[in-house]
Amino acid sequence: GLREWQRPLREQFPIVTGHPGLAYLDSAATAQKPKVVLDAVQTYLTGCNANAGRGTYTWANRTSALIEETRERVKAFLGDPEPDRSTVWFTSGTTEGLRTVARDWLTAELRDGDEIVVPFADHEANHLPWLEARELLAARGVRITVHPMPYQQESRDYDLEALAGLVGERTRFVAVTHVHHVYGADMNVDRVRRVVGPEVPICLDAAQSVGHLPVDVGALDVDFVVFSGHKAMALPGTGVVWARGLRGGEFRPGGWQGTPNTTGILSLRTALDWLDAAGLARIEEWTVGLGVRLTDGLSRLEAYEVLGCPLSLTAASTVQRRQGLVTFRHRAVSANDLGFILAAHGLLVRADGLCQARAGETDSSVRVSVHVYNTPEEIDRLLGVLEGLDDDRPGGPR
Ligand code: PMP
Repeated sequence: GLREWQRPLREQFPIVTGHPGLAYLDSAATAQKPKVVLDAVQTYLTGCNANAGRGTYTWANRTSALIEETRERVKAFLGDPEPDRSTVWFTSGTTEGLRTVARDWLTAELRDGDEIVVPFADHEANHLPWLEARELLAARGVRITVHPMPYQQESRDYDLEALAGLVGERTRFVAVTHVHHVYGADMNVDRVRRVVGPEVPICLDAAQSVGHLPVDVGALDVDFVVFSGHKAMALPGTGVVWARGLRGGEFRPGGWQGTPNTTGILSLRTALDWLDAAGLARIEEWTVGLGVRLTDGLSRLEAYEVLGCPLSLTAASTVQRRQGLVTFRHRAVSANDLGFILAAHGLLVRADGLCQARAGETDSSVRVSVHVYNTPEEIDRLLGVLEGLDDDRPGGPR
């Protein structure tokens, strides 16, 4: 069964096995690293550390090759059907990746009167860069219109009907998020292409999907995929922009001329190998299962409210599957207090504004996000502590 598959994988995370009293439940912020990733970095730094593209000696050549190999590895990992026509740029994370697309590509593409549609209620990293691009263009006398991506009120999914009404002659760009970092919902981005037509470039914020579920750029039919290597088990300070076809060829972000993050890039290649070998479909099944366990448990506790897509969609719904990422709040206890209480019990969760572009409900919320190294026992431990804070329970805090 899945449990027998998961156990040896969990054993490969030294930080997990090294802290038996702690449950790391914040993988949406950054993921833990398997031992092979740590070992690869150690081997590189003690074996052939050099700068890329500089030398006549083996270490430098090896480093240059490593970077090119990792580009190809990223393309294969994303199911790129035309790797000869796409480009991979390395960044420090999704934030820098989206800013790079905005500043170095979008501002060069847009003309006076053009329109773009971008999220206003997703991660601010997928919101602010597009507004910044508008300002940069305005300073050059180019005026564009930025439309907020429409959402469905109840499910928080994108409202594709409303989107169809927004998209017109002058639409030049659409930005979307694959898995929402607060609601955990799969945002149905595979249906966006049908709405916007074949010509409009689509940029996908895949920060919460790459490394968690199979991501296939061919099936999604998008033009840019931006993600964080560090959330996909590579080292901190790693990220990727994948750009399709000629768009990528014309795309020359600044900053690449300097010394690349070689250990980060190496760690990314090793992490992607590890994830592929573990199996992303099974990783998704495991983490979705843990999320369902948590939402089911919370639905039995009066004091808590789960944010986002309705609980009825938490099972194997193909409509809007919730990934292993659950945000909730307590009716009376603040997110900060909840975070401290949980940490005191060795439960490490995210408890602050959650970088939501349109804050408000997230200010008071706690986010639990899991990966393949988490277990049902950890979720039950968490539910046990949360139940103790359920103010409707006899003896609960009042
Ligand atoms: N977009 C989404 C959907 C995210 O969840 C995050 C990280 N929380 C980011 C962007 C930013 O990623 P990074 O911190 O690696 O730049």
